[in-house]
Amino acid sequence: MNYDAYRDVMIEKQLKGRGITNELVLEAMSRVSRHDFVTGKSPAIAYGDFPVYIGNGQTISQPFMVALMSQKLEPFPGMKVLEIGTGSGYQTAILAAMGGQVYTIERIAELGLRAQETLQQSGYGQIEFRIGDGTKGWPEQAPFDRIIVTAAAPDVPRTLSEQLKPDAVMVIPVGDRYFQTLKIVSRTAGKTVIKDDCGCVFVKLIGEYGWIADDDYR
Ligand code: SAH
Repeated sequence: MNYDAYRDVMIEKQLKGRGITNELVLEAMSRVSRHDFVTGKSPAIAYGDFPVYIGNGQTISQPFMVALMSQKLEPFPGMKVLEIGTGSGYQTAILAAMGGQVYTIERIAELGLRAQETLQQSGYGQIEFRIGDGTKGWPEQAPFDRIIVTAAAPDVPRTLSEQLKPDAVMVIPVGDRYFQTLKIVSRTAGKTVIKDDCGCVFVKLIGEYGWIADDDYR
């Protein structure tokens, strides 16, 4: 199947057409095979303009949302990046392809282990994985230059802001379970500044400093 043609259309229409200009993001998203992270799906679904179900009640984000968050996060090569919500591992691959030194945490073991396998097979061997509650961050590896949370939080977890270096940035969707605002958190001179970006919809961040698990999720 000609995945390349679908990927080119994704880059042109969904990303460049909607204001994604960061060369590192565009280059990473042209290089990483999104279809490896949504196995068994047709190219029209793997590169479609929507999130895709990945099992265990979770989804891989829409390509535009991955690009937008990566552009807002703006990790530079060599930076230490913490990702909460590995899911399929696609966003993880993009951060690694942009040159980040990535640490990623997933609470559902089945997803985290599958993502680890996919990423290793795709040649991203430098990533550090953890199965557990990402709302607590990764204290042993803190502080980080960048933190990206790819699940919806009820509030910005203080545990995560405290693991940012000075002048660091965190991108996190905050809101209720149906609708959130993408927040850009920056830490300058010991002060935390939070700016609102756009509206978005993510699955819930479940954990000690997130939502309590309910019947919809395990
Ligand atoms: N970035 C992912 C999106 C996955 S959806 C991708 O590109 O595929 C969000 C993920 O966050 C889900 O897999 C969910 O299980 C996970 N998650 C939710 N709460 C979490 C927590 N407290 N710690 C770590 N992962 C969490």
